[in-house]
Amino acid sequence: MENSIKMVDLHGQYLKIKEEVDQAIQDVISASAFINGKPVEAFAGELADYLGVKQVVPCANGTDALQIAYQALDLKPGDEVLMPAFNYVASAEAAALLGLKPVFVDVWEDSFNINENLIKAKITPDTKAIVVVHLFGQSANMEPILEIGRQYGLKVIEDNAQSLGSVYQFSNGETKLTGTMGDINTYSFFPTKNLGCFGDGGAISTNDQDLAKKATMISRHGQGQKYAYEMVGCNSRLDTIQAAILSVKLRNLDSYIQNRIDAGHRYNQLFENLPKVVRPSENSWSKHTYNQYIIRLEKRDQVKELLKAAGVPSMIYYPSPIHLQKAYAYLGYKVGDFPVAEMLCNEVLALPVHTEITSKEQEYIVNTLFHSMISL
Ligand SMILES: *Cc1c(COP(=O)(O)O)cnc(C)c1O
Repeated sequence: MENSIKMVDLHGQYLKIKEEVDQAIQDVISASAFINGKPVEAFAGELADYLGVKQVVPCANGTDALQIAYQALDLKPGDEVLMPAFNYVASAEAAALLGLKPVFVDVWEDSFNINENLIKAKITPDTKAIVVVHLFGQSANMEPILEIGRQYGLKVIEDNAQSLGSVYQFSNGETKLTGTMGDINTYSFFPTKNLGCFGDGGAISTNDQDLAKKATMISRHGQGQKYAYEMVGCNSRLDTIQAAILSVKLRNLDSYIQNRIDAGHRYNQLFENLPKVVRPSENSWSKHTYNQYIIRLEKRDQVKELLKAAGVPSMIYYPSPIHLQKAYAYLGYKVGDFPVAEMLCNEVLALPVHTEITSKEQEYIVNTLFHSMISL
């Protein structure tokens, strides 16, 4: 058992849809339209239907999606973009590459998402947009954030790389899928995301036809008519083969998400009587899809080593906050600027969670963790 526990089980997931996926790949090879073949547009339409948005613009990966979104919104060098301090690097990196200034906002220690109560204090005359990152499968608190956006004239970008299929509930009971509420929203189909392909992939969604047009143009070298470049763009395409695979997997997305939710809830139960482990909280406004199952604990690094020795893989998302990374030192932040994000980086641990995990494996993982902790 212990040798078989995986952080993710992409192969096991593939075997269950092997025939359909193999056929989809073979069809692409038979047609040999490897760039912008029919499956790309087909998948974009299917994802738009799933999300209930007007437009989906596919691109090469979720990092490009953010860069294209910033450009489509006409953000200019010097513009400030608010984003959570506890996060993957992509939203800061894409901003920095365009000369925008990433401005961090601390997060909630229980949900890991941006703390909406701290946003207003960071707004200056140069602030143009807020990137809301729905971390680990759970929606940030969108209603007050959308309200701040309206009030201050800021664009809202949802980075939905980790939470496709998650739901946000407004105070009037209305529900919306994450990645459908911002002015423009971004997705990654990196293999371990809720909807993952067999390589890199990404997309942008929006209900604004003009923004969709612009994003499409930017992703194609800023090209309007062929060889007429209306703006500086980039080359960011979703591979036809990846699109064909994604269409098959999108049909299974709801069952993948249900498996993740079941696994998350099973962990929550197994950890109920382990008070030294802080379980991830489920906000009342969000359906958590458990793209990651993140606990917090003391002596995290020692526990991680003991788990490893007992055949239980684990990961740290994220070991160091972006504001303290060398590449972003030029922004001038220092230790203590974002105390919650800094604390989380020392305490978080991601346990195996994926569509194929079994309750036996989860019991073994939790037991091993328990014994590791009491041995320290
Ligand atoms: C994975 C991820 C991205 C970027 O995805 P890539 O497809 O790897 O470029 C962006 N933001 C967040 C929060 C992510 O988790």
